[in-house]
Amino acid sequence: MAKKYTLPRGTYDIVPEDEYKWQYIIEKFRSVAKRFDYYGIATPIFEKVEVFERSVGDESDIVQKEMYTFVDRKNRKFALRPEGTAPVVRAYVENGMNVSRQVSKLFYYGPMFRYDRPQRGRYRQFYQFGIEYIGSDHPYADAEVIAFGSLFFKELGLQNVRLEINSIGCKDCGSEYDKALIEYFKPYYQQLCSDCKKRMEKNPKRLLDCKNPTCKNLAQSAPAMLDYLDEKCENHFLKVQEYLNQMDIPFEVNARIVRGLDYYNKTAFEFIYDKLGAQNAIAGGGRYDGLVKEFGGNDTPGIGFAGGFERLILTMEEQGCSFGKLSKIDIYCVSLGESANLEISGIIMQLRKAGFIVAYDPDKTSMKAQMKAADKSDASFALILGENELKNKSVILRELKSGQQSETNQNKLIEYLTEQI
Ligand code: AMP
Repeated sequence: MAKKYTLPRGTYDIVPEDEYKWQYIIEKFRSVAKRFDYYGIATPIFEKVEVFERSVGDESDIVQKEMYTFVDRKNRKFALRPEGTAPVVRAYVENGMNVSRQVSKLFYYGPMFRYDRPQRGRYRQFYQFGIEYIGSDHPYADAEVIAFGSLFFKELGLQNVRLEINSIGCKDCGSEYDKALIEYFKPYYQQLCSDCKKRMEKNPKRLLDCKNPTCKNLAQSAPAMLDYLDEKCENHFLKVQEYLNQMDIPFEVNARIVRGLDYYNKTAFEFIYDKLGAQNAIAGGGRYDGLVKEFGGNDTPGIGFAGGFERLILTMEEQGCSFGKLSKIDIYCVSLGESANLEISGIIMQLRKAGFIVAYDPDKTSMKAQMKAADKSDASFALILGENELKNKSVILRELKSGQQSETNQNKLIEYLTEQI
C-alpha cells in the first residue's frame, strides 16, 4: 500500500527503539548541569524574526538562507528558532535575570530548525543541547563552559573527540584583522564565490568559513587572527588556555575557527569527531560579549556552547557507547475468562499505583498466547488470574526466569512483590 503522507524532507521520527537514547543523554546532560551549577530554561520554538536577524546577523548563512520564517494571521513575521543563544539572551533580558542576580548559568535543550541541504548529521529539524554562562568576562568562565562539554562527552563514554579553540578577538583588534583579510583576498576577488564577495564587505572573517573549494584553498594561506589580537584579547586567550591545562582538558589551537554567527568575539571553540565526515562538529560555541546589550540589557558579557543530539548519537553508536536500558517490565498480567478479564483491571491499577511497571494485553485471550508474550516481554513476573484464583481471591505469580510458581493472596500481593522486585 502506498504511504499517504510522508515526513518533510530533512526531518525524522524518534521511534521508541531510539527514544530512550535521547532520554539517557538528557539525563546525563542535566546531571552534569547540576554539578556545574546551571539551571534550566526553555524558550518558545518560534520568535519574532528580528531576534535572529539582529543577533545572528543579517548577512549570516542562517538568516540569509536557512531560516524557516512565516507570517501569522495578523501579518507578524516569525521564525522557527535556528539556534538557542539568541532566544535565551532575549529571555534573560525580558525576565530581568540581570537584575535578580549577577551571573546566570543556564542550560536548555530542544528542537532547532534550519533550511539546509540534508545529509548525514545534518537535518532541517534537529535537536540541540546548550549552555549559556551570562554575566562574567573572566577567562575562567570560558574554561568552565568548555569543561562542561568535555566532562559531558566523557561521561557519555565518547573517545577521540578533539577540542579546538581559537580567539577571534574583539571589535577593536577584529577590525584590524578584517582589514588584513581584505588586503589578502583583494587580488583573488574574481575567484571568490558570490557569497564571499559579499562577505568581503560585510564580515570578512566569514571568508575563512566558506565551504567552496576555491575559497577554502585561498583561506589556507590567509593571515591568522591570532597574529592580530590586541594585548587584552591575547591575555584573555592565554589565561583560558592556562585554566584548561589546570583542569586537565587537552586542546588544540586552530586559527581557522571563526564560527558562522555575527555575535561571537574572543574565544571560539569546537568539539570535533573526525570520523563523522563532512559534518564533524559535535558541538561549538564561543563568547558573545555584545549580545545582551544588543537585546536592550546592560552591557553584560556571556559565553556558551551548543551541540547536536544527532551527531552525538551517531558517534556514540559508532563507538559502541552505552545508552542505559529501556525500563524493564516488572509484571506481565495474564487473565483467563470473562470475570477475570474484568477483575484484573483493578489489580493492574493497584500495582501501578504502588509503582510497578505492568504490562497487559486485553486482546490476547488464550493462556498460551499470553504466556508467550510474558516470556517475550522479559518481565520479572507473570501474574496469572483464572477462575480458581478468582474464587480464592488469590493470584499465581510465576518468576519467569526460574519458572518457579506460587499462589499469593491478593491482599498480600503488593507487600510480596515489593520484597521480590
Ligand atoms: P551551530 O549552532 O551551527 O554552531 O551548531 C552547533 C551544533 O549543533 C553543531 O556542532 C552540530 O552538532 C549541531 N547542528 C547544527 N546544525 C545542525 C543540523 N542542520 N543538523 C544536525 N545538527 C546540527
